[in-house]
Amino acid sequence: MLVNHVDYKTGALRDMAALTQKAHAAGALIAWDLCHSAGALPIDLDGCHADFAVGCTYKYLNGGPGSPAFVYAARRHHGHIEQPLSGWWGHARPFAFDTGFAADAGIRKFLTGTQPILALRSLAGALEVWEGVDMTALRSKSLALTDLFIQLVEARCGGYGLTLETPRNGACRGSQVSFRHENAFEIIRALIERGVIGDFRAPGTMRFGFTPLYLRYRDIWSAVDALVDILRGGAWRERRFALRSAVP
Ligand SMILES: *Cc1c(COP(=O)(O)O)cnc(C)c1O
Repeated sequence: MLVNHVDYKTGALRDMAALTQKAHAAGALIAWDLCHSAGALPIDLDGCHADFAVGCTYKYLNGGPGSPAFVYAARRHHGHIEQPLSGWWGHARPFAFDTGFAADAGIRKFLTGTQPILALRSLAGALEVWEGVDMTALRSKSLALTDLFIQLVEARCGGYGLTLETPRNGACRGSQVSFRHENAFEIIRALIERGVIGDFRAPGTMRFGFTPLYLRYRDIWSAVDALVDILRGGAWRERRFALRSAVP
């Protein structure tokens, strides 16, 4: 089974150790989707006995859109798993140019064609920033930022129809906060115009991601200032904010 470590919509963080154990007890294997947790909080795949994991590098890892994805497979599975997409870089001897396909015995079997070197080079630049970063400290900052955002929005935007969708308990939350509102789409558009970049997810979710590496507490204050202003003045009602485009 495939499970999102952090739910992309609500921001709920799932208990990796407990769910992995449950899956194994039921005779299932588990693959974790780390798209919203890689770079946002400490992750211990080996310690949780996870089977597989996938993730992208363009969210909290800052690789930028088009940045390569990653895959994890526990060593105990390497010998017997099959990668259905066979490509020459997954071959046991890619430079032997054999006519038949013999998959590499280890994790390299997951490779397919030639790696996108240009994209990997820019990803390497994005990852350099992480050198020496203490993930426990990063997690504390992330929780402080999301706690502050929840606290400020609830204190300053009460009466405007916002409902918290993210777990209030920090231990059950990733690094994002979602609020529900009837006019979530228009409000997000109005915020983006003011430099506060959030997402809209149908039917009515406003999703805010917090990158603890470089977001400051004052950025949270400014974001909430903008939200208060849009709600109080009703700027989101301008017709242009209701226009839909390919990337919502
Ligand atoms: C961003 C994201 C992905 C990554 O998808 P790509 O095809 O790599 O862009 C996967 N799953 C979830 C839940 C995501 O949010």
